[in-house]
Amino acid sequence: MNWSTTSLAALHTFALPAQATRYLELHTFEDIENLVMSSPDWNSIRILGGGSNTVFLEDQSMPIVRMCIKGRAVLEQDESSALVRAAAGENWDEFVAWSLEQGLFGLENLSLIPGTVGACPIQNIGAYGVEVCQCIETVDVFDPNNPTKGIQSIPMSECSFGYRDSKFKHEWSHLLITSVTFRLKKTFEPVLNYAGLTASASAQALRDEVIRLRQAKLPDPAKIPNAGSFFKNPVISKSQFQVLKDKHPEIPSFVAGDQIKVPAAWLLDQCGFKGQWHHEFGCYEKQPLVMIHNSTKTNPIGVKKKHFLEWLSIIQDKVEHHFGILLLPEPDLVFTY
Ligand SMILES: Cc1cc2nc3c(=O)[nH]c(=O)nc-3n(C[C@H](O)[C@H](O)[C@H](O)COP(=O)(O)OP(=O)(O)OC[C@H]3O[C@@H](n4cnc5c(N)ncnc54)[C@H](O)[C@@H]3O)c2cc1C
Repeated sequence: MNWSTTSLAALHTFALPAQATRYLELHTFEDIENLVMSSPDWNSIRILGGGSNTVFLEDQSMPIVRMCIKGRAVLEQDESSALVRAAAGENWDEFVAWSLEQGLFGLENLSLIPGTVGACPIQNIGAYGVEVCQCIETVDVFDPNNPTKGIQSIPMSECSFGYRDSKFKHEWSHLLITSVTFRLKKTFEPVLNYAGLTASASAQALRDEVIRLRQAKLPDPAKIPNAGSFFKNPVISKSQFQVLKDKHPEIPSFVAGDQIKVPAAWLLDQCGFKGQWHHEFGCYEKQPLVMIHNSTKTNPIGVKKKHFLEWLSIIQDKVEHHFGILLLPEPDLVFTY
């Protein structure tokens, strides 16, 4: 296998200047077979897609394997829907655009989410009132612990999809996702239950509106490095929420099953983090939930890691002090403690 040394700065959207000493790209299914035949230590391998939910806080000696396998096709269709498969290395937003060009609908609210198709089931990507699990039929995986089984298809119903969650984040985190199969509709049924969405004329109009809203609110990682929403929205018990509501009657909330979800952005805003900086890290002035990295400051990775962890604990401590809630990061922070 052709392992190489590479900079990870351009391979994750937070753009920290970490180096990888063992880096490999998989472009074909044959590349997977070759990797299997080289008998690597799979437990130590980190799979990478578009790097938009991953933050490399230090140089990496573990092998990093980037899924670059491309391909998308309509497998079968009937009058009302089509089964579509996309390979793991496909760019997510290009796949959404392509699906609309085929006259297939359901993914338009998920436009402009960065990353790859292979990563979309892992945290069950969601935006503007839609979660990707609503359109997933199967997730196709390779199990390094059972290589003789080849590629296996896991039905959507077995993936335990939840809010930014699935089994792929937990007991199935060792699986290599090779492609995802979607059931898409032939009739456009607009989902407009998210405040600000109005475009019901066509799926393309809705996609354009979602893109406009996202661009107005979120920084473009190519210009301002970031990893999207940095903290998960905390889900708390009804009794804990009632205590908070008594103290802060204006606190926004959403019902999440028999619990309550509180927007992390509101908690950060109340603590005054909007537009605040600690060395090269800040909370975006239009949306404090997005942590940004000033990559023009050229500190070495070790110094940036120190500043980042300081900033993270400043934020977590202040929110916990004010609201009794520990905010948890959404992206994968890759470092040794
Ligand atoms: C500006 C911005 C906006 C965002 N907006 C949203 C949003 O609206 N909604 C949302 O849900 N998310 C959002 N995100 C988060 C991110 O885009 C998604 O989580 C996306 O699915 C990550 O894809 P990726 O390919 O970049 O994953 P990576 O960061 O490369 O990987 C993420 C995780 O998946 C694993 N992984 C990746 N590919 C595979 C594979 N083929 N097989 C097995 N494991 C794999 C990695 O090991 C890692 O643990 C946003 C991020 C940014 C930067």
